[in-house]
Amino acid sequence: MTELKNYAKALPWLSKIEKLKGTESGLVVKMLLVGRNAKVPAGFLKTASSSEKAQLKQKSSMVKWVSGNTEYWVLQCQVVDPKDHYGLFCPSPYAMARDLVGTCFRQIIAGEPKSFSMEHVGESEDEFLGACVGLEMAQYRFKNVWPKAKPLNFKTKITSSLKSAKQLMAQAAVLGESVNLARFLVDLPPNLLQPQSYVKLLQAHFSKNAKTKVTVWDAARLKKEKMGLHLAVGQAASQEPQMVHVEYRGGGKEKPIAFVGKGITFDAGGLDIKPAAGMRNMKKDMGGSASVAGLAHWVVQSRLELNCDFYFAIAENAVGTESFRPGDVITSRSGKTVEIHNTDAEGRLVLADSLTVATEKKPQMVIDVATLTGAIKVGLGGLTPGLFSNSDNLAECLLRSGQSRGDVCWRMPLVPGEKSRLKSDVADMVNCTDGYGGAVTAALFLEKFTDGVPWAHFDIYAWMDSAKGPFATSGGSGQVVQALSHFLEQEAQNQKS
Ligand SMILES: [Zn+2]
Repeated sequence: MTELKNYAKALPWLSKIEKLKGTESGLVVKMLLVGRNAKVPAGFLKTASSSEKAQLKQKSSMVKWVSGNTEYWVLQCQVVDPKDHYGLFCPSPYAMARDLVGTCFRQIIAGEPKSFSMEHVGESEDEFLGACVGLEMAQYRFKNVWPKAKPLNFKTKITSSLKSAKQLMAQAAVLGESVNLARFLVDLPPNLLQPQSYVKLLQAHFSKNAKTKVTVWDAARLKKEKMGLHLAVGQAASQEPQMVHVEYRGGGKEKPIAFVGKGITFDAGGLDIKPAAGMRNMKKDMGGSASVAGLAHWVVQSRLELNCDFYFAIAENAVGTESFRPGDVITSRSGKTVEIHNTDAEGRLVLADSLTVATEKKPQMVIDVATLTGAIKVGLGGLTPGLFSNSDNLAECLLRSGQSRGDVCWRMPLVPGEKSRLKSDVADMVNCTDGYGGAVTAALFLEKFTDGVPWAHFDIYAWMDSAKGPFATSGGSGQVVQALSHFLEQEAQNQKS
């Protein structure tokens, strides 16, 4: 796939910087990142004016000046007191450094410098890791990958007072690239990323490794496997629905941790067609599966000592004579019947069948990621995914991982009193409810297919509306990749001890 080849040429940037030759024109850019509780080395300030020095003394987070052909940036990490919201929105050292460095670096890139250096002084490994992830994320732009790979090309040097700097840079390259991979998949337009090409891309990307095994279920196999809900959603599209399973075995004999991603490559809404404004950005309706792909990439590349299963439920929800209809009653893989109330509530249908496949293998837990409802954005906005879970312990771990990686989500309740709204007179349940609490009833629908396994569900937006922090443009956001990578890192440690 040309898209994937281009992508590999451009990224990850951090692991290629030693080979960059650079250009002759532009400014020499020197960045200094000062950690929490660290001091600005006097040597860096030789050309600074007294007012710049005063700003730094007052702990300004960013001070910049130009002297001759050199531009200086001093970034200072702040100590923040976690006052409220259980500390969940308090920027961690990782998040603060990532956002500070990322914000400045995307501006530096836009200025096309001759060379760039970043020097970190401080004692926090998380800070330096975050700063490097910020660099990697800030250099991603879809236009630099497709239709032609245009990697950044200026001489770059990154140093830190930490002994583990080299190792942390390598970790950051993998993590930043995993987030960027999820972003890139979302950014690919829906005429390029259709069910078939998506499956091929995942196959090509994940079958090269000895610890992974990729299995694809095409429509004929989905039929054989009784994946009625998944098939119904994809039956009007020109390309058939498919499920991809990437099995990763890096651990011992313990049960796997399963992930399921919603991969609707384009969502027209089906016969309950979306209005123009609601349909415009529906290429991102595979954002959950993109995040699962980013996470799988991270797991494979970091040779994580755990067993993981990644399921990608892929289909296009199209309008046609073959479309499934409101009123249809469809039998799921689990045997439960579903009355279709609204064909635009299709994500939960493809997820339900894949959740059944995942839970049949009795995993330790199953975590799904999906751009599931508009209701969650009404409640929480686009920056904060809603997290639903049947396990307080699992939810707590996921929330804390989100905080420490600046990939924050907020727990939402599986309100017991809302369950009855899913009742149907002709089937075991309806797929969708009218009225308030759409994100809650969507989660309650999914829960019916989790068979009591510890389960968490992320209802994500998967999108940045405008440039912000390390995001240079609007586009795919790779939500929850960083949170889940941290969570798995902790799990791998827990299972060792
Ligand atoms: Zn939909």
